[in-house]
Amino acid sequence: MTKPVVALVGRPNVGKSTLFNRLSGEPRAIVDNIPGTTRDRLFGESSWNGISFDIIDTGGIDPSSSRKDPLSIGSSDYIKQIRSQAEMAVQEADVILFITDASTGVTPADIEVAEMLRRNQKEVDGRFRPPVLLVVNKADSAGLRSNAVDFHELGMGEPYAISAVHGTGTGDLLDALVAEFPEAVEEEEDDSIKVAIVGKPNVGKSSLLNRLAGEERAIVSPIAGTTRDAIDTQIEYNGIKLTLIDTAGIRKRGKVEPGVEKFSVIRSMRSIERADVAILVLDATEGLSAQDAHIAGYIVEAWKSAVVVVNKWDAIEKDTYTMAQYTAKIQEDLKFMDYVPILFISAKTNQRVDQVLPMVIRVQEERLARLTTSQLNRIIQSAQDAHASPAHKGRSLRMYYGTQVRSDPPTFLIYVNDPALAHFTYIRYLENAIRKEYNFIGTPIRVIMRPRR
Ligand code: GDP
Ligand code: GDP
Repeated sequence: MTKPVVALVGRPNVGKSTLFNRLSGEPRAIVDNIPGTTRDRLFGESSWNGISFDIIDTGGIDPSSSRKDPLSIGSSDYIKQIRSQAEMAVQEADVILFITDASTGVTPADIEVAEMLRRNQKEVDGRFRPPVLLVVNKADSAGLRSNAVDFHELGMGEPYAISAVHGTGTGDLLDALVAEFPEAVEEEEDDSIKVAIVGKPNVGKSSLLNRLAGEERAIVSPIAGTTRDAIDTQIEYNGIKLTLIDTAGIRKRGKVEPGVEKFSVIRSMRSIERADVAILVLDATEGLSAQDAHIAGYIVEAWKSAVVVVNKWDAIEKDTYTMAQYTAKIQEDLKFMDYVPILFISAKTNQRVDQVLPMVIRVQEERLARLTTSQLNRIIQSAQDAHASPAHKGRSLRMYYGTQVRSDPPTFLIYVNDPALAHFTYIRYLENAIRKEYNFIGTPIRVIMRPRR
């Protein structure tokens, strides 16, 4: 089921990222390890009373990418930034939290944000969508809390006075927030392989989609997804059913104007959440960007499988080494998913497009594969014999036995003397040992250490 999305909107310095951090908890470990992507952390997960939702900090998304200087009110950059925040929030969110600052009172920039939000909201059945909750942050004291009434003037309803730093008032806010979520629609369970086609704008996602879902393969039926205006497309390949996720979004994203392209990351992330396998489309005519790495990191964190597709292969100068060079470069840049197959295609000329679905199907098979317990224990034993874990404070890790506890993705439980002795690099070594025996191509695998009692 798709989780509701909550967007934080507001002028700089009102406390959006502070609130984001309070609500979303721990930073995402893998993405934060990818150079150049830490700044871009804009998507988090949260829950309240057992209801999960995703949060976007639209302030962290900088479409003008010129945030070096503080933006002065009235500057065109400033207005542009507020406008695109509001547009994105209205497009992508189920509920918007409009953040203001009790210590400054209502500012012209707040009025600007309120107007932008109202302008972008849509009237559905007499109500404005998505709903906006007005948050007055930095209400750290009783005096500041009483200032919150002044914010009625923004015409955004009842203000919620909170302190993101101290956490006061956030409970009431979250109660109100959760009450605004749309009715959950259960996604119909089917046995098709769920495929997300993701990547930056203009890399050729919709061109590839058209090839994959094109006339040559009968489209079984477009089915409505659970997200607003998300349309999935079912296709069949050699009798195997696949669902291409949010195909309406992929087509729409093709028309994104340059500059606001970071917005598309959010749609990509939502598609990835619903997918088994993500097709990460790169543009051969461009290098791998931080944004590509960011999407890739999200695929890994969500424990999804992937196929990397380098598109526009027709458009570059090539010799016999080019493909190997590209492969090496991508594997270097996407080190954390070096198990992913890479295809070089042209959606324009149809070159090797026929290899994409077979590869997706193969990856899904491996995602569901299981090693037998004896296979696994043989791997563990010989890995340990070949290279024992280095000692830490005089003690070293001993692995006793293991078992694959689940597939989708493959997850291995290994019983050891003390899990604290298992260094990240040793777990990585074990994963590689497992992959030597069985590829698990395109699929993340999970190794969990448990103390043997
Ligand atoms: P953003 O630009 O909207 O993301 O704002 P930040 O989250 O970066 O916060 C701007 C400043 O306000 C930082 O110095 C925060 O520590 C401070 N701040 C955020 N929330 C609160 C709060 O609830 N009370 C107080 N006193 N300061 C806050
Ligand atoms: P999207 O934004 O990722 O959905 O990208 P589109 O499918 O809309 O393609 C963006 C642009 O790249 C369009 O002008 C396409 O014609 C072009 N394009 C897509 N695939 C290829 C390809 O394989 N080769 C070349 N040369 N151009 C392509």
